[in-house]
Amino acid sequence: MSGTVYLVGAGPGDAGLLTLRARELIAGAQVVVYDRLVSAEVLELVAQDAKRINAGKNAGNHPVPQHEINQILVDEAKQGKTVVRLKGGDSFVFGRGGEELEALVREGIAFEVVPGITSAIAAATYAGIPVTHRDYCSSVHLITGHKQKDGALELDYPALVRLSGTLIFMMSVASAAEIAAGLIAGGMAPDMDCAIVENGTRPCQRKFLCTLDGIADTVRENAVTSPSLIIVGRVCSLSRQFDWFSNLPLKGKRILVTRPKMSSAKLASRLRALGADVTALAAIKTMPLPFSMPDLTPYRALVFTSAAGVDAYFERLFDSRDARALGGKQIAVIGRETGKALLRFGLKPDFIPSVYSGQALAKEMLDEGFITKSDRLLLLRARESAPELTDILTQGGVAFDEVSVYETRYEPVDANPADFDLITFTSASCVEGFARSVDKPEGFHGIPAVCIGEKTAQAARRFGLDVRVSKEATIDSMVELILDTNETKQGDR
Ligand code: SAH
Repeated sequence: MSGTVYLVGAGPGDAGLLTLRARELIAGAQVVVYDRLVSAEVLELVAQDAKRINAGKNAGNHPVPQHEINQILVDEAKQGKTVVRLKGGDSFVFGRGGEELEALVREGIAFEVVPGITSAIAAATYAGIPVTHRDYCSSVHLITGHKQKDGALELDYPALVRLSGTLIFMMSVASAAEIAAGLIAGGMAPDMDCAIVENGTRPCQRKFLCTLDGIADTVRENAVTSPSLIIVGRVCSLSRQFDWFSNLPLKGKRILVTRPKMSSAKLASRLRALGADVTALAAIKTMPLPFSMPDLTPYRALVFTSAAGVDAYFERLFDSRDARALGGKQIAVIGRETGKALLRFGLKPDFIPSVYSGQALAKEMLDEGFITKSDRLLLLRARESAPELTDILTQGGVAFDEVSVYETRYEPVDANPADFDLITFTSASCVEGFARSVDKPEGFHGIPAVCIGEKTAQAARRFGLDVRVSKEATIDSMVELILDTNETKQGDR
């Protein structure tokens, strides 16, 4: 039985522009074959254990030839794999999707096609240019500026000019001068509004407005590179009013987010939505540990201090039993995120402290009478957890047992301080991960670091970072502080 090949449009770069179907297929694929134009942000959604094949680059750094890509799709599918073929934008808009389908049809392999948002429209939109507008034009045209092997670019310029529509040229940075000259010779006004959009929808997007006779100079002076669109038409003038993307508060700010991969998603996506160029540094990774299921009879309450701990415990519990095993037990969690993780297993926490720290959790459980000296607690948390929680329990005379349900591992990463305007830390273990994973953490001296709490801040100060602490220990409060920090920085200039 051969597998299915899903030809999926990955959109122009911003992962938020994927279709729901694309996201579902990407996360479930066993094999992902992707192009040069598929963004790193989209590739983050591929499952850890999936096989990734970069068709934009082979061992010698050249694009893999089309017939070889076709063969890879056929071979993987014949092994029964679920294959996602990811292409930038939409697969059928200058994407050679048709050629790949022909190969699949020839071999009798099942396929589906998921449309993507083409960069032709999305990059224009993110540059504040509506591709049509009733007052300006009645058509829009997608044109390739890619030259034939013999160097010829055979466009019927007078016909293009007569259309009086919005002309969108793709793959055309190298032929910009030739296209402009051709359109002018074909009768278009030299002062026609134009725009060049480089890396559209990505945090590093650049946009240049110019006139038709200024296109070549604009490309040269700004060293415009691929991927870029050249848009020709009166609608380009609307960008002066409609460019919402360049005006986002964190536009172009390069932020390093340190967190385990899964939980970095929320902070990273909030910052990206504000225009930031986010690098998620998965410096620490949580790994479930093998442990023997404790008998819960002696315990009055179970205590979880992280979402990772909840996940690791229940994964193991579900090998033999289900959530009823906890029937009648009280559950305390360190904070809202851990509480949410618990809810995914159908259970609500009985106790959450007002401040999200191990210290506050222990202190408030005692002060508010949630536990007393005659009770016994079961702590389900990471190996080598911080001692605050247990110190206070011991001082308060409360008996407890501890099971290490997961551990934190540190992974080496490549991060150059010159590439970042700001760093975020959401726990002391993230600082620890950063210190262990980054080659020279002291190289980050003086860079603003936004920390979730005082304990995290203390850890971060060791490296001479310009440490600031959010008012509350929440993602929202961190985002607020990042916006403030950015404003003051801009004010300084
Ligand atoms: N199938 C793709 C286009 C492939 S052709 C789509 O639908 O978007 C490659 C060309 O697309 C590039 O040369 C450039 O002109 C354009 N392009 C792709 N991604 C882009 C982006 N993020 N910003 C601007 N142009 C882009």
